[in-house]
Amino acid sequence: MKWDGGGYAEWTEKKDAFISVVFSWQLDSAYQRAVWLRSSGYRVQAGGPAVALNPGAISDVAEVGGTVDALPHHNPDATFTTRGCIRHCPFCAVPIIEGDLVELTDWEPRPIVCDNNLLAASEAHFDRVIDRLKPLSGIDFNQGLDSRLLTKRHAERLTELNLSTVRLAWDNTAYEHQFITAYQVLRDAGIPARMIRVYVLMGFDDTPEDALYRLETIRGLGSWPNPMRYQPLDTKRRNDYVSPSWTDAHLKKYMRYWSRLAWFGHIPFSEYSA
Ligand code: SF4
Repeated sequence: MKWDGGGYAEWTEKKDAFISVVFSWQLDSAYQRAVWLRSSGYRVQAGGPAVALNPGAISDVAEVGGTVDALPHHNPDATFTTRGCIRHCPFCAVPIIEGDLVELTDWEPRPIVCDNNLLAASEAHFDRVIDRLKPLSGIDFNQGLDSRLLTKRHAERLTELNLSTVRLAWDNTAYEHQFITAYQVLRDAGIPARMIRVYVLMGFDDTPEDALYRLETIRGLGSWPNPMRYQPLDTKRRNDYVSPSWTDAHLKKYMRYWSRLAWFGHIPFSEYSA
């Protein structure tokens, strides 16, 4: 189960060409692809989160908008059962692009569930999702479950599935209590620590010490962190932004070590030199 293209998908259907762009730093190359496809005689349509946020970046060479479902072209094992989110985290594009949470009625049961905030859905919707995923293997709640909403009932229903990964997020130490409580709810329901992954946002409103505390706490619990370097929503170049509390060298070192624990985990972070 892999994500093709690292956030970029392109396909053709007869004389139509479709481009889906997830990250803003892919827009320049998407533009070049649209120019080439157009010159090859295709009618080009572009979409995806990066295009939704910056339609002017490509609108002179492609039609933007439309309702084409690009997800199967990024990953045929992925699905959404809801769109949008109830929250407005300042680092996240979802509320801008998708708005409030909407429960979908027409969705395909697939193992990689990409809902932005499944737990914000009604209990009836959550139950339908669990029931329809039950026949599948290797379920991965890929975008993370909201620690502030996770209940014992949610966790117990999750254990009815053939789970591969349950993901939480811990964006700042200010949310320690909510994160630890949710983590414990999952563990108490019988979900093993190795199955729980935790997104750790770095370089937004935190400090290196704050990030290190979260990363080492997660490791101490027996789970693996997924470090995520903050990227402004309109950035032209990946990893260009450095918040005032960090240096680029610090961010690179943290990302290199904490996203490669299989290689570096035997070396204490304090002794690791990038
Ligand atoms: S809860 Fe998740 S999806 Fe919702 S706004 Fe925050 S980061 Fe985005």
